[in-house]
Amino acid sequence: MRWENLTVVAGENPPENAALFGADAVTTRTFDTPEFRGITFHEIRARSIVNRVPGASRMPFEWTVNPYRGCSHACVYCFARKTHSYLDLDTGLGFDSQIVVKVNAPELLRRQLGSRRWHGEHIAMGTNVDCYQRAEGRYQLMPGIISALRDHANPFSILTKGTLILRDLDLLKQAAAVTEIGISVSVGFTDQELWRTVEPGTPAPERRLDVVRTLSEHGIDCGVLMAPVIPFLSDQAPQLRATVRAIAASGATSVTPLVLHLRPGAREWFMSWLAHHHPHLVRRYERLYAEGAYAPKWYQRRITRQVHELAEEFGIGPTRAGMPRRIPAPEPAVPGPTQLTLL
Ligand code: SF4
Repeated sequence: MRWENLTVVAGENPPENAALFGADAVTTRTFDTPEFRGITFHEIRARSIVNRVPGASRMPFEWTVNPYRGCSHACVYCFARKTHSYLDLDTGLGFDSQIVVKVNAPELLRRQLGSRRWHGEHIAMGTNVDCYQRAEGRYQLMPGIISALRDHANPFSILTKGTLILRDLDLLKQAAAVTEIGISVSVGFTDQELWRTVEPGTPAPERRLDVVRTLSEHGIDCGVLMAPVIPFLSDQAPQLRATVRAIAASGATSVTPLVLHLRPGAREWFMSWLAHHHPHLVRRYERLYAEGAYAPKWYQRRITRQVHELAEEFGIGPTRAGMPRRIPAPEPAVPGPTQLTLL
């Protein structure tokens, strides 16, 4: 197992000569509780915690903090799977169950924020794997991380699917009082059956929207990253409508759709899942993703337009902050994917 190259952000190539951890710094643990059964934690003491995204990156952020590698939320499509291979770990089940924990992340961050070379730039979290995955319930790294950012009035953002973020509500409020913070919750769809199979380790979409609601009630703006929209499984008009409607009802300040992309590492895992659960769709996926990791531009534009129109209809958007939402009465149940007319 290699323990270097841990500064890599998903989608980027690993930097050369970036040895950050010695193998002797690894402590491996398992916990015999139902929550952590089958999961192995590799505790390390990182040498660096604020990572710069390489200049050529198309990411909308420059600095990141990722206290974990691997994610027990186990989303089949997760684009970070590839980064587990940089550690010589398996990108399938290994990504879901072999979790690297940077146990000194809070103290390291506090030290780095206090360095004269640090100029208070925005720090993005949840950019590689989820910082509020189950491991965080035990290791509790985020309170120390948020406290350090608050004490240095350093702007930051968090993207998560984890309801555990509400544990840190008071700290988030304190941070928001002294600096700019941005919270986004990821909810790609509200279909229960799809959620159970494709995001098996995550809190249910409704619970995630409860997070949005609670943050909003406490004065913390929260956007929703509607990701991923999964072709032929969550992209039909009634499904998009049900999802945007639920997002609007949660009080989200924005909704940003993102169509599934399948980079190496995620692609193989997702396609084997698809062959098992929806074999009739395999050929259609091969055609839709024939050009590479991304669905065709026309498809992405169509989804974006539909979601934006629904957002407008339901009254989501920055210009509508604080205004009452136009949420119509509940609609009939959305048919499952197999009942829908597919593209
Ligand atoms: S929650 Fe995010 S990081 Fe974790 S498996 Fe799902 S997509 Fe990947």
